[in-house]
Amino acid sequence: MKRTIFFSAMLIMLVIVSGCRQTAESQLQDVSSKVLVSGKKPKNIIFMIGDGMGISQVYAGMTANKGHLNLEKCAYTGLQKTFSASDYITDSAASGTAMASGTKTKNGILGKDTTGKDVKTILEYARDHGLATGLVATSAITHATPASFIAHVKSRNQYEDIARFFIRHGPDVFIGGGRDNFASRKDGENLLDSLKAQGYRVIFSMDSIEQVKHGKLAGLTAPVHNPPMTEGRGNMLPEATATALNILSNDPDGFFIMIEGSQIDWGGHANDQKYVITEMLDFDNAVKQALDFAEKDGNTLVVITADHETGGMALNGGNLKTGKVEAAFTTKGHTAVMVPVFAYGPGAENFTGIYDNTDIFRKFMALYGFSATD
Ligand code: MG
Ligand code: ZN
Repeated sequence: MKRTIFFSAMLIMLVIVSGCRQTAESQLQDVSSKVLVSGKKPKNIIFMIGDGMGISQVYAGMTANKGHLNLEKCAYTGLQKTFSASDYITDSAASGTAMASGTKTKNGILGKDTTGKDVKTILEYARDHGLATGLVATSAITHATPASFIAHVKSRNQYEDIARFFIRHGPDVFIGGGRDNFASRKDGENLLDSLKAQGYRVIFSMDSIEQVKHGKLAGLTAPVHNPPMTEGRGNMLPEATATALNILSNDPDGFFIMIEGSQIDWGGHANDQKYVITEMLDFDNAVKQALDFAEKDGNTLVVITADHETGGMALNGGNLKTGKVEAAFTTKGHTAVMVPVFAYGPGAENFTGIYDNTDIFRKFMALYGFSATD
């Protein structure tokens, strides 16, 4: 009898232990495949990613801003799960690929599934349906988050290979850093000439970028990344957002754009609350540009979310009158928690609830009326 109890206990222990093992397969099990959408369909989608922007980062920005952010205008909110095919805690390449293509992949991979097969992104579907497309980031435009919408490479570190994806079928408008990946390459090629040959206006300064009203635009505002807000980036992101939206709105077929507040994540990695907060507020100013556009336009859906949380940031104190924030961090890396989704405009009601990051792609596809076989 005693022995039976012992063996039963051992068996239960074994089941528990094997159930806790995080294999590539086990991370994939609860990804839903069917997404239904309802309500009015948007003509344009503005997708905004605050890299590393968890609820604490949002509320830290809100507190520093004395209680409010522009993104509060979004009446519909949800939560998304961010785990990747390889890890409980994702990186920006796998989560970017999940949101862009609806496919879970391993950390580090861009635009490919776990077997190495290319997966088509929402930006590519939009482009192939004749919509105008855009990418805006404060990091290099070749960095993981923007690259996950256009590139198909085994490693997010293949910056020079990623730059090639902007040449032949690139977005109509892209603004960010990363000039060196086009102009100062190891292979000696000058991809800026190739961009010009494809009809792009290639511009390096925000002052000149802002003057552009139509056509194809490659705005490469820094050799690598744009500086942090704390080192004088100024209004690059809100201005790039307004410029890109103005250009893309010329297309009667509509548009898709992804706009990233890239450096909220870097503030989290540095466990630097001032870095996090200044980047959060800058991202929220870009959100204002998007929401103002959407309000005026009436046919534009704005979805704002993160790819994961960074820093395990907690708010241990603060003051809504003075804007003081007392933050603490649990890690220099990313964390596994679900991240918020905020939505505004036609179709926004479809973003409530708790769902997988891959469902964002499926919701966009359904709202545009695209089929995965197109
Ligand atoms: Mg990023
Ligand atoms: Zn990160």
